[in-house]
Amino acid sequence: MANYLKRPQGTEDVTPERIHKWHTVEKVTREIAESFGFSEIRIPTFEVTELFHRSVGETTDVVQKEMYSVIARETQFTLRPEGTAGTIRAMLQNGLLAEALPQKVFYQLSCFRHERPQAGRLREFHQFGVEMAGAASPYADAEVILLAKTVLDRLGIRDIVLNLNSIGCPTCRANYQKALREFFTPHREQLCETCQERLVRNPMRLLDCKSPEDQAIAKDAPVILDYLCDECKEHFEAVKSALTDMGVDYVINPKIVRGLDYYTKTVFEFITTSIGAQGTVCAGGRYDGLIEQLGGQSVPALGFGMGLERLILTMEQQGCDFLPKKSCDLYIAPMDAAAKPAAMRYANAVREMGLRAEFDLADRSFKAQMKYANKLGARYLVVLGSNELEQGSGQVKNMETGEQKPVRLDSAASFSEDFMQISVTDGFDLKL
Ligand code: ATP
Ligand code: MG
Repeated sequence: MANYLKRPQGTEDVTPERIHKWHTVEKVTREIAESFGFSEIRIPTFEVTELFHRSVGETTDVVQKEMYSVIARETQFTLRPEGTAGTIRAMLQNGLLAEALPQKVFYQLSCFRHERPQAGRLREFHQFGVEMAGAASPYADAEVILLAKTVLDRLGIRDIVLNLNSIGCPTCRANYQKALREFFTPHREQLCETCQERLVRNPMRLLDCKSPEDQAIAKDAPVILDYLCDECKEHFEAVKSALTDMGVDYVINPKIVRGLDYYTKTVFEFITTSIGAQGTVCAGGRYDGLIEQLGGQSVPALGFGMGLERLILTMEQQGCDFLPKKSCDLYIAPMDAAAKPAAMRYANAVREMGLRAEFDLADRSFKAQMKYANKLGARYLVVLGSNELEQGSGQVKNMETGEQKPVRLDSAASFSEDFMQISVTDGFDLKL
């Protein structure tokens, strides 16, 4: 196949066969975010590159290795690798932070990272995310985590563990980074190349390394929780107690440090073992310094991103239910060319009732139309021949039971009325 006919590596097509799975997670995430009082925000697919350097952070994998950047007419742009930076930029630019706080927004968007494609790791992937700006309370942390948990529960996902940690504020972290440097320096030679650099520039990131050798060394590394200042400790205790109060189980995992630079205090990941090595379905935390770092006021904020491909993969692995596929409610089979205008009118009258109706557009033989109606999964079928149209009556066939019921065929209006009555009697909720 010609190269231009192949999708780029690490991208996916979602064909009509699978789209109901996406509709399921899009609908559920939207409904739950709205029930928590979050409003949708839409931001551009690309931003000025510097935005990501300043927010995600110079020493992160995302900025160092994974960004898709282009120079277009002398300005450097980058396809968003995540949603937080653009969302905060939009909040600042649109003056949202000058309004009543907290501002609570959610998004469903595509992200782009130049990574090695594998199961659960793509170059274009999708996130559902929420951001809350202007809330310092530990209840805000608990609320955001509860929102994620509610989504996972509503989708029927089991065997997923909330991993919780606090990485403190810049004050606690300075001491901790020092302790980490002291711990790792004797092992310097055994560390991977990236981690040798991390040791110099940002030792906490060492804990995030995916290499098994490095992970083995990091096993006995000092734990951030032992370095928290009183305020951060108190905040963390309050988050944990609010979660416990709401019946949200968690494990404390001091290795969760998050890949991005802007996090402070609470960080968390929901991790499942159902989908192999890339098991983090949702990740987030507090980033109290980010907005000020970008040139705004000092506004505490927090949020998370949930990988929709990993979410769907988990649901498939666990046999969770998706919304039913949308299929044809009524197929109208005209027997000959003379019946086609009526077929089109009748189909349209049924659509106006909010149902899905189709008729022959391929000049199929009668037999081929029957086969096609089956293939569409049509719930009902009506045959329109010159006899039926002359007599002003015909039969609607329930394709599942084979049962036929009479309908008026004198006008599109009376047909659609009768048809609606039949489908309601059969107990179908056929609304689109
Ligand atoms: P990982 O450690 O798996 O690389 P990350 O820390 O880089 O993840 P985040 O930046 O926190 O990920 O993104 C939030 C979520 O987005 C992840 O938990 C995951 O579900 C999803 N995600 C991140 N990168 C990818 C990718 N390349 N392909 C598919 N989903 C991804
Ligand atoms: Mg990553």
